Amino acid sequence: MKLHEYQAKALFREVGIPCPADRAVSTAAEAVEAAKALGLPVVLKAQVHAGGRGKAGGVKLVSKLEDIKPTAEKILSLTIKDLPVRKLLVAPAAEIKKEVYLSILIDRGTRKAVFIGCAEGGVEIEETAKTNPGAILRYEVAAKELQTLQHAKVMPFALKLFSNPKQAAEVADIMVKLAKLFADKDASLIEINPLIADGHDKIIALDAKMIVDDNAMFRHAELEPLRDMDSENQDELDAKAQGLSFIPLDGTIGCMVNGAGLAMATMDTIKHVGGNPANFLDVGGSSSPDKVVAAFRLILKNPKITAILINIFGGITRCDDIAKGILQSLEQMNVPVPIIVRLVGTNEEQGRKLLEGTKLGTAKSLVEGARKATELGGRA
Ligand code: GDP
Ligand code: MN
Repeated sequence: MKLHEYQAKALFREVGIPCPADRAVSTAAEAVEAAKALGLPVVLKAQVHAGGRGKAGGVKLVSKLEDIKPTAEKILSLTIKDLPVRKLLVAPAAEIKKEVYLSILIDRGTRKAVFIGCAEGGVEIEETAKTNPGAILRYEVAAKELQTLQHAKVMPFALKLFSNPKQAAEVADIMVKLAKLFADKDASLIEINPLIADGHDKIIALDAKMIVDDNAMFRHAELEPLRDMDSENQDELDAKAQGLSFIPLDGTIGCMVNGAGLAMATMDTIKHVGGNPANFLDVGGSSSPDKVVAAFRLILKNPKITAILINIFGGITRCDDIAKGILQSLEQMNVPVPIIVRLVGTNEEQGRKLLEGTKLGTAKSLVEGARKATELGGRA
């Protein structure tokens, strides 16, 4: 789950990471009030889950009070990367003496958290990574050290961002707090771009981006109200409401599987035989025929689908329930692509019987199913 800048900064303040004394507002009138209270000039910033807000006209410096209302109205009327701007952050404009990039994220390769830093901030880090990879600094932190990171340990890294020892010490202090916040909130990313030295030579976070691992949201009830429905994938939400886990992907072969591990193995096998999965879909343990119908609807919403592979290993899930669901689906909707079914486990005989005489393809093993779906549906 992504947090907006103003939400991430509220968490920063709780843990003592310095950021501007800004205010989030929803109307132009509130923006005027906030600007009066904060003092001019201010920066008005669109709160949307999209990068490059500046380029899209979503970040404006305003020096005159009479310009606040029209500028705020303009930004609130924008749609940035298909997302409506519903909130603005009004921030006292900071003087930027130096700006750097700082983030902490999960490195799956090393299975650690890693700080990424770059002395050239403000710009897109992805660009720098391509054009000047040597400028990207890394500092790895093992999971168990995140909550107790030592200031002295990160000082050398901080000194590469700000050579002034006093400023580097402030950066190191921010890193210690970031690491703890990262672990406490089960974040997968916290990014400050830019982290600046302001007019008083103080280090402050001028921007903030934070992503919390959705799989850990069950232990962060306090964060749930921060979820922005505008940027949630509607299909994923619908799936969740129906007890399915669904994640859309780029490929063409629709997958319907019971169990997350088997769903992953199914996608891997499709790739292995030269195909490309269109989605991850776990219909869960006890699969009623209704769930299968819902799963078909989700898969078929994607116009790129060329074949569907149904891979069921019946345990608690009964193969005859799945077969009934498949038959109901075929009655209720037009399925314009070949379907390959592999049913094994609880009640597999009954399941197969139910499907006899239909046009469905069958497979005895996962590899065979993946091959058939890939051959019928075309290679990626
Ligand atoms: P982003 O474009 O979505 O990353 O939004 P940012 O908050 O990072 O703002 C984009 C750029 O606007 C920053 O890199 C700064 O150069 C500039 N900017 C933002 N806030 C201020 C401010 O308070 N003072 C000044 N001088 N520039 C700012
Ligand atoms: Mn930024």
